[in-house]
Amino acid sequence: MDLTGKTAIVTGSGRGIGREIALKLAEAGANVVVNDFGIPEPANETVEQIKKLQRQSMVAMGDVSQAADVNRIVDMTVAAYGKLDILVNNAGITRDQLLLRMSDDDWDKVLTVDLKSVFLCTRSALRHMIRQRSGRIISISSIVGIIGNAGQANYASAKAGIIGFTKAIAKEVASRNITVNAVAPGFIDTAMTQQLPEERRQEMANKIPAGYLGTPRDVAEAVAFLASDEARYITGQVLTVDGGISLGKL
Ligand code: NAP
Repeated sequence: MDLTGKTAIVTGSGRGIGREIALKLAEAGANVVVNDFGIPEPANETVEQIKKLQRQSMVAMGDVSQAADVNRIVDMTVAAYGKLDILVNNAGITRDQLLLRMSDDDWDKVLTVDLKSVFLCTRSALRHMIRQRSGRIISISSIVGIIGNAGQANYASAKAGIIGFTKAIAKEVASRNITVNAVAPGFIDTAMTQQLPEERRQEMANKIPAGYLGTPRDVAEAVAFLASDEARYITGQVLTVDGGISLGKL
């Protein structure tokens, strides 16, 4: 997979899966804009690691659930590198709670950060990609958006929403040489899953046919493939990266 000379934005790439995606795209040759929210140190560290790979990189801090921030991030990217080839919608949060205890704020926050951000970033990126007549959009959904999970009605709705959004936009822009796909990870070993009790993590691992939690690298490899020229005829798809857990059991 050769992404030499491509320009990519990876949202929420200060740590976790996002950082690994940013590094993988850079290893494949892309220049990468690192977005994150909150303190800048993690994003700066991702940029330093990318520069060690001899690629160009810069931080574009901002809240991807806010249109003004999103437009600024995309405009900064195009101003710096002259184009935008790859958008990875990775930023996401959880606010788990059984439905009867879920507050309006728990619902709104997760739907805004996990789903509205995908709409805002994709719309902003497409303004450039349609003009360029090329582009790759990859959004990080979750198997929870496919098979559901108790205590995650907000997150499951947002992640299922990403899948519907992906299919609709894939149809809108296919004739412009732009592909739009989703990657649905299973249980991946990051801060998001490390916050769960060890007992729960072990329980999860036991349910995975592969027998272990995935790594951010496993997700990054799938994203890099979908970003590559080799994947030019794949659009509107959801690629699960889950060690087989979404297959269910007999
Ligand atoms: P993570 O370790 O919690 O990292 C999420 C990143 O997103 C952080 O850098 C965070 O910044 C950033 N972020 C949060 N809100 C943001 C906002 N409004 N604007 C910009 N950046 C924001 O999560 P992860 O495990 O790497 O997950 C990455 C993606 O994969 C998410 O979409 C998640 O839903 C999805 N996913 C994860 C798993 C898993 O098992 N880990 C499974 C399926 C899907 P801060 O550091 O400032 O918080």
